[in-house]
Amino acid sequence: MDKKYMPEPYKVKMVEPLRILPKEERIEAIERAGYNTFLLNSRDVYIDLLTDSGTNAMSDRQWAGLMMGDEAYAGSENFYHLQKTVQDIMGFKHVVPTHQGRGAENLLSQILVRPNTYIPGNMYFTTTRAHQEMNGGTFVDVIIDEAHISDKEDVHFKGNIDIKKYEDLINKVGAENIPYICVGVTVNLAGGQPVSMQNLREVHALSKKHGIRVMFDCTRYVENAYFIKVREEGYADKSIAEIVKEMFSYADGATMSGKKDGIVNIGGFLAMNEDDLYFKASALVVVYEGMPSYGGMTGRDMEAFAIGLKEALDFNYIKHRVEQVEYLGNKLIEAGVPIVRPIGGHAVFLDARAFLPHIPQSEYPAQVLAAEIFIQSGVRTMERGNISAGRDKEGNEYFPKLELVRLTIPRRVYSYAHLDYVAEAIIATYKRRDEIKGLKFTYEPPVLRFFTGRFEHI
Ligand SMILES: *Cc1c(COP(=O)(O)O)cnc(C)c1O
Repeated sequence: MDKKYMPEPYKVKMVEPLRILPKEERIEAIERAGYNTFLLNSRDVYIDLLTDSGTNAMSDRQWAGLMMGDEAYAGSENFYHLQKTVQDIMGFKHVVPTHQGRGAENLLSQILVRPNTYIPGNMYFTTTRAHQEMNGGTFVDVIIDEAHISDKEDVHFKGNIDIKKYEDLINKVGAENIPYICVGVTVNLAGGQPVSMQNLREVHALSKKHGIRVMFDCTRYVENAYFIKVREEGYADKSIAEIVKEMFSYADGATMSGKKDGIVNIGGFLAMNEDDLYFKASALVVVYEGMPSYGGMTGRDMEAFAIGLKEALDFNYIKHRVEQVEYLGNKLIEAGVPIVRPIGGHAVFLDARAFLPHIPQSEYPAQVLAAEIFIQSGVRTMERGNISAGRDKEGNEYFPKLELVRLTIPRRVYSYAHLDYVAEAIIATYKRRDEIKGLKFTYEPPVLRFFTGRFEHI
């Protein structure tokens, strides 16, 4: 039977009760949190759409895998399982485990990034760029222009690299000053937008011509493969596993956060084909994460991760995941709420500038919108705009074109009924948008300020 939205391809075996605070207590809670949803206590949140990072529900197989943890300090059986799984799925020769994605970014950036080097990428990611900059490099955005426009419904691969921008950068700074190009599949901050296979092929060809490494940020690669299957000509009959294999054939290595498409709560890795890079990474991982056979994970974490990587390739799993996101997005579109289009793979992004046109970007409309949604409903969301973008080397704010609030859907956690509640909460907030006022910092941390910054109303 064909349904517009696929029912959950799983049934519930264990539950975690939810509670919702009365409105007065929600107001107190967000004030205590300095209007930063990152600083709310989880126990005060009803539906938590802050992130899909590490908030996944594991399967019975994964929980069973936890019992199979081989907690040896070196040479854990579970590491070999994880290593072989990554090698089989992605085709990389070497795997260096890390505690999560940024651990892999740290290793890669420390090894390859130097002052006066340039790292092109399809839109920045917060931690990725922070590591590049801390090692003296300069991130250069080479994503297609359409990615910076919130409503571009007809662009199916908004995460694509603009080949001309990439080539111009090579001509300007010289290939020898570009240690690698970082290709996010999908692009989180563009709204979970995918990169086409054709584009990956072209990026690879141009990079090889100039001797530049292609490193994927493959944190969300299964979502990307799903979009290739349903949107790109020639892939409808290919399995997710086949598409993934081809995607990675255009990469020399990758950083991965298992907390996303690994369907686990912690974990990550750096993978590569190059022996020299592997030797350097396995020397450095000991300093920051742990032995090259655990990298900050327990044996049981690695086991659950290996199983999760395999489960994520199931077509019904990924179809349902992406359709949940579409379901929420389409409800908001029908109600006239401005969101990023097309709807991406892991989240619905509200366009805070269109939502709150009376609040200038210097007064953080996305931040205040996230706070107001919490007051309205107990639903926790997050800012992805001027605050997340931070400041440049001169201390000026970036004022990114996209000023967004992210409603991120954890994997296998919430039902369509929860999403109905979320949609109603957003629509109610939209109806009273004229009452909402801007914010200013009362405490601004020097890096990654969105995590711990505090605010008050102007
Ligand atoms: C989450 C994420 C990271 C960082 O991974 P962590 O596990 O949070 O350290 C990097 N890139 C993308 C695209 C992500 O979504």
